[in-house]
Amino acid sequence: MSGLIRAIIDTQALRHNLSVIRAHAGRARVIAVVKANAYGHGLVSTALALRDADAFAVARLEEGLALRAAGIANRVVLLEGVFAASQLEDAAHEGLDLVVHDAGQIELLQKAGSAERFALWIKIDTGMNRLGFRPRDFSAALARIRALTPAPRELRVMTHLACANERDERATSGQLARFREAIRGLGYETSIANSAGLFGDIALGCQWVRPGLALYGASPFDDATAAALGLKPAMTLMSSVIAVRHVGQGESVGYGAAWTAQRDSMVGIVAAGYGDGVHRSLGSGTPILINGKRASLVGRVSMDMIAVDVTGRTDVEVGSRAVLWGEGLAVEEVARYAGTIPYELLCSVSQRVPLEPR
Ligand SMILES: *Cc1c(COP(=O)(O)O)cnc(C)c1O
Repeated sequence: MSGLIRAIIDTQALRHNLSVIRAHAGRARVIAVVKANAYGHGLVSTALALRDADAFAVARLEEGLALRAAGIANRVVLLEGVFAASQLEDAAHEGLDLVVHDAGQIELLQKAGSAERFALWIKIDTGMNRLGFRPRDFSAALARIRALTPAPRELRVMTHLACANERDERATSGQLARFREAIRGLGYETSIANSAGLFGDIALGCQWVRPGLALYGASPFDDATAAALGLKPAMTLMSSVIAVRHVGQGESVGYGAAWTAQRDSMVGIVAAGYGDGVHRSLGSGTPILINGKRASLVGRVSMDMIAVDVTGRTDVEVGSRAVLWGEGLAVEEVARYAGTIPYELLCSVSQRVPLEPR
């Protein structure tokens, strides 16, 4: 057997996706978003594979520190900024860029008197209503930031799109209009687009784009596959069949007897469960590749195992390869069976699953 569950990370695919993104980005520079362990792909190994990116973005200070500890020298943007003086000092020491999205963060900078050590990205809330200064508060915030002494080393402005993945053009153009209005005449570099903004054929006119999901070869849209966007899946989550058994008509499989054989059946047991990040909400009928061919999950996902209907197949035996998602089976499709989005499945891959670069 070639091993139980593991996530094969295709570093060529990561680099390919970055080049596709560059083609879409035109002259804009690319901030590769590697938060949440690079969407489950491994923070440091992914950043090393994507060293050509103009910058990296992470959500938390610890993620930025881990990149620096691994020797990654690219610009690193902390998307939520910092929340305490000690974090500010760590960020300065490691040369991390900060997003500034509220008044408390300006105060931190003021008190520390160390703004010259930072490149700041001021976030404007143009409709997401999560982080950022409201457009009507932005000029006051900017004035306070410009009054910092010493002055920040660099200043840029950014916003985040709420509905680009739904292709809601009215919402997106409203956000863009509020953004343009807020920054009119200022001349700062801007950053707007996530993956959906970048691939959504919207005229963004920003100098920095911030793709995450697309780097990993998944589509942010319901109506376009990753392949149609020219992207290749970077993660293939695979495991092996560890048992094959006959299940007679009328017999049930797994916890809660949630699936009952309607005919004499053959069931393969695969070493993959919710302990590995395979969501329990994946029900009977979820596709899974066995030896490269589609089969259906049956019964409940348990912690370490799932069952797969392989009735009529003569090629399935202990050791047969199972693919949960990735090459040959898009994570977007599997996510729909779980009632979620590819982001969540990728991020859920648990610590006991080894990440194996290919
Ligand atoms: C996560 C994140 C992104 C990347 O979004 P994708 O949809 O994965 O491309 C970009 N910007 C911000 C602020 C984010 O939090």
